[in-house]
Amino acid sequence: MEKPKPALIEPTDAIVRVTMSSICTSDLHIKHGSVPRAVPGITVGHEMVGVVEEVGGEVTHVKPGDRVTVNVETFCGECFFCQNGYVNNCTDPNGGWALGCRIDGGQTEYVRVPLANQGLNRIPDSVTDEQALLVGDVLATGFWAARISEITEDDTVLIIGAGPTGICTLLCVMLKRPKRIIICEKSEERRRFVEEHYPEVLLTTPEECKDFVVKNSDHGGADRVLEVAGADDTFRLAGECARPNAIVTVVALYDQPQVLPLPDMYGKNLTFKTGGVDGCDCEEVLRLIEAGKIDTTPLITHRFPLSEIEEAYRIFENKLDGVIKVAIV
Ligand SMILES: [Zn+2]
Ligand SMILES: [Zn+2]
Repeated sequence: MEKPKPALIEPTDAIVRVTMSSICTSDLHIKHGSVPRAVPGITVGHEMVGVVEEVGGEVTHVKPGDRVTVNVETFCGECFFCQNGYVNNCTDPNGGWALGCRIDGGQTEYVRVPLANQGLNRIPDSVTDEQALLVGDVLATGFWAARISEITEDDTVLIIGAGPTGICTLLCVMLKRPKRIIICEKSEERRRFVEEHYPEVLLTTPEECKDFVVKNSDHGGADRVLEVAGADDTFRLAGECARPNAIVTVVALYDQPQVLPLPDMYGKNLTFKTGGVDGCDCEEVLRLIEAGKIDTTPLITHRFPLSEIEEAYRIFENKLDGVIKVAIV
């Protein structure tokens, strides 16, 4: 549908000309009506890069002409939670996941970004749009998940799920140089993708995962488990594959409540960390991309012009043709 080009509303807003966007699984949740907060008729899309077109009077962090990544989270930078790095819990009325959910997002030509001093990050000159495309959402999630998991070089790290967020998590876990990384993924196609691009990673399936992890770890289970799959049985699997006193980080979004089998877990002393992405490290992530330490470009398996976005949705939604991520240009 045609909509007018967005205009500045608040002095903290910026208008960004979108040069590349992507489709996220959360867009599919909106499409299927499973995001109650999503406003009907909203322009979806919360993962994008572009060029700043216009800024409000209070925007100092970026200027027109700057190439930028757009953060999935809108956050004020001033409240208690923002000050402590928990930007996902920002208490500003406009805070949280607004773009492409409660206000028009980025699968279009122009987007209004509120609280632009926090929500936009300049892309280094040597970094391309494709290299920076995932910085504001799935890569931010992977970076956050790896950070809060307190990974050491002695650890065996199990990552459950090798979808786009799972692979972004893998790339960020690799930066911590753990002793071993095991990926559990049910899709043969995705296991092959991991094997091809990251041959040092050990691979297993949900059925064999528990035995495989016991066999391939030093203390009867994984020292760190990162659950990124969100399938019916993966929360239980995460707890089962962890060794006593391990950290289990849950990044996945579930359709149903999950059960903690506490009687079976008594004495196992697990630490669970849960929640939504605190995407406040985009600047650091961009520096790591610039330095060649993170490369998410292999994940972009398909490219479509905006005029063919319906076909892009069809392929992404039905996981056709080996798709991991789609770029809309
Ligand atoms: Zn997303
Ligand atoms: Zn805040």
